[in-house]
Amino acid sequence: MKKVKELLKDISIKETCFDYNTSKLTSLRIGGRSFCFTNVESRDILLKLLGICMENDVCFEIIGDGTNILLNDDYLDIVFIRLGGEFNYIRFEKNGEIIVGAAYKMTRFVVKTAKLGYDFSFLGGIPGTIGGSVIGNSGDKNQGICNYISRVKYISRSKLKEEVLNITDCNYRYRHFHIPDLLVLTDVVLKADFLEKRAVLQKVRKRIKRKKLNQPVGTKNAGSFFKNLPDYPIPTGRMIEECGLKNFHYGGAKVSGKHANFLENYKNAAAKDILVLSKIIRDIVRDKFNKELEYEVRMIGFKNGQDIRKF
Ligand SMILES: Cc1cc2nc3c(=O)[nH]c(=O)nc-3n(C[C@H](O)[C@H](O)[C@H](O)COP(=O)(O)OP(=O)(O)OC[C@H]3O[C@@H](n4cnc5c(N)ncnc54)[C@H](O)[C@@H]3O)c2cc1C
Repeated sequence: MKKVKELLKDISIKETCFDYNTSKLTSLRIGGRSFCFTNVESRDILLKLLGICMENDVCFEIIGDGTNILLNDDYLDIVFIRLGGEFNYIRFEKNGEIIVGAAYKMTRFVVKTAKLGYDFSFLGGIPGTIGGSVIGNSGDKNQGICNYISRVKYISRSKLKEEVLNITDCNYRYRHFHIPDLLVLTDVVLKADFLEKRAVLQKVRKRIKRKKLNQPVGTKNAGSFFKNLPDYPIPTGRMIEECGLKNFHYGGAKVSGKHANFLENYKNAAAKDILVLSKIIRDIVRDKFNKELEYEVRMIGFKNGQDIRKF
């Protein structure tokens, strides 16, 4: 790791911190100290950084705004990479295409596009970055952002270079996006319907208002913890509520009293508190409904290793 530290210092990224407290990176405000956190502002440096990590067998994770992840709070032998600079832009083309960088904030995207009459109101009030939203196909119960994507640019794992791919409905489904060779998503091209600008802004405002009313916006949470079940009539939040679990807590973790699919860090929760609480919920829901809940939140740094990309 000492050699890697020197190599990372050599590529002169402005913002590179070692032994970094990752709890600052997540909306749950949970996360251990990590080997490294770095903010990458250019494509050149991103490619160099990925090359160093891969050649030296160092784990790395791309992180957006951390609004859909649970990080372990043990020491994390991981380089956390956040995109900024060159990846933080939006461009409107004459042919109606919208080109947006992965680091661009979703809240800005929704308002900026609405002001031009593009209707992305179903994404209103969703925090995070465009990159994170595409990886999780964020949206509401009827549609996700991927429905509006025509193509993406990404860095491929096998060639370690930028590639462009036209997106079809084979690449996504509910809260899921998949390109087999994807290492880092860098740019997204979208198309949407035009409406009258005032009508779209009105829809966005309504959406945000409804979210604030029904969800614990402002507490430390990571959005819906579990996915809704496909072809099942009861939304997951209601299933958990019907098990009597609203406000149930374990350690410093609690099921929100406002929306039962939101788990909150309400009193200095450890990652384990959230994890155990989520397992209790899955067990009780399985007993009552005979259904298996699937995580929507991504777990990073846990021992099963599934979420740590190692090369
Ligand atoms: C209060 C609240 C309400 C929410 N409401 C909704 C909602 O209504 N609908 C919904 O779908 N979600 C919702 N979410 C969840 C979350 O906001 C979205 O999933 C969001 O799009 C995640 O973006 P992020 O930048 O925070 O991603 P992160 O949490 O930082 O990352 C998520 C995953 O994407 C990966 N990733 C991020 N960027 C890249 C990239 N450029 N290349 C490759 N991988 C990348 C990360 O490695 C990680 O695995 C909500 C969350 C909160 C806290």
